Amino acid sequence: MHPPDVLSQSITHFLTASLNILPDTVDILWSITEDIVWTMPSSAKANASDEAAFRTHGHKLGLTKCTLYPPTKVCINPDCTAWQCGLLLKKEEYQRVVLFTHGEGAHPGWMVHLRCQACNTNYQSNYSVKGQLRTYYAGLPQFIQVSDHQFVELELAMQWTDLMQIAYVTLFTSNIIVYTLYSVLATNCAHMYGIAQARGSCTNNNSDWQFESSLTTEQVWDSFTLLALLDY
Ligand SMILES: [Zn+2]
Repeated sequence: MHPPDVLSQSITHFLTASLNILPDTVDILWSITEDIVWTMPSSAKANASDEAAFRTHGHKLGLTKCTLYPPTKVCINPDCTAWQCGLLLKKEEYQRVVLFTHGEGAHPGWMVHLRCQACNTNYQSNYSVKGQLRTYYAGLPQFIQVSDHQFVELELAMQWTDLMQIAYVTLFTSNIIVYTLYSVLATNCAHMYGIAQARGSCTNNNSDWQFESSLTTEQVWDSFTLLALLDY
């Protein structure tokens, strides 16, 4: 796959605004560096100035630092023969999401769905969907999907799990009390995350994005449950 000869209007607009240069300069720089830029690995984490540029100029153009893809480019349904024909999955849809990270608060992002043209399986970031059946991929994903449009970074989910486990071994008592304790802990985890976001220098104003960037107790609880199941 080759780099495009001309950058899209939104990316040109983003570069002119964030670097304070003219559109013609962007075109010239792209023509010189396109082959190098196209093959550079994309980092999962941006530095503070990148984040500020995306927050100030990118989000309103629909541009973010993070995009989640399925972990496969070919169909892995054992009953499908698409791979024998060399068929790659087809890009189906972009979906706006919010990513709750361990160290940098909530970030807007995109999730890409891919579809197998032979068996019609829909491949998303954490799982594939065929008919009514959702099948999670093997291994632990970098971001765990906790609702339709919200993801929790693995490191953050692991931290919450550690807190839950410490509570469990500390208070070895009836199931009802342990369940109540877990509920309180999940509420506190969501509350503490909100306080840290509000206090931190990386506070994000995601008002240009479509979805809520505050965390709920249910999302903490779901990340704990999903991580336990996937790890098992
Ligand atoms: Zn298939």
